[in-house]
Amino acid sequence: MNCLEERILKDGVVKEGNILKVDSFLNHQMDVKLFDEMAKEYLKRFEGKEINKILTIEASGIGIASVVALRFGVPVVFAKKTQSVNLDGEMYTAEVESFTHKNINNVIVSKKFIGPEDKVLIIDDFLANGCALMGLIQIVSQAGATVAGIGIAIEKGFQPGGQIIRNLGYQLESLAIVESMDAKTGTVVFRQ
Ligand code: 5GP
Repeated sequence: MNCLEERILKDGVVKEGNILKVDSFLNHQMDVKLFDEMAKEYLKRFEGKEINKILTIEASGIGIASVVALRFGVPVVFAKKTQSVNLDGEMYTAEVESFTHKNINNVIVSKKFIGPEDKVLIIDDFLANGCALMGLIQIVSQAGATVAGIGIAIEKGFQPGGQIIRNLGYQLESLAIVESMDAKTGTVVFRQ
């Protein structure tokens, strides 16, 4: 069991509606030492891959992605969520349905910050149905850049996102894959 899995068992809270709450260490209060351990693990898993940029999505991906970017020694860009699209041609845009809030956001990245020369490692905190990742992949593809890999902290393996993304042929590395969880008993079981 790795340190993220141990921490989920210690401090994660299973909520109704297939939500795992990890706000005491991952997406509200942030344990950056844990993030650094995670970043070192991504370095191992993506060893040999050419990566010159990290891309994430606001807000909860930003903390992890920043520490990962420091370890990889590359810049980090985050996609911004917005209700209104000001299509002035300066932005890449994609639609993303929020798993936690159930609304649809347009996500935007300035054309200044990703281009055809970029080999992008996408980082996010959770993978559930895959909407956030599909939006980020669309943005990379609009830029003519390459997705070098995808690093997720917690994948909920009982939801379809992981399989969809792996079937598309991407190297998807999730540091903890939750096989099942139960809000009544509070149990979380990881994929081995
Ligand atoms: P997806 O787009 O894959 O359906 O969901 C991924 C996004 O939804 C993540 O960026 C994350 O912010 C949020 N999310 C999905 N599942 C959970 C969860 O169980 N707990 C928390 N805290 N956020 C989640």
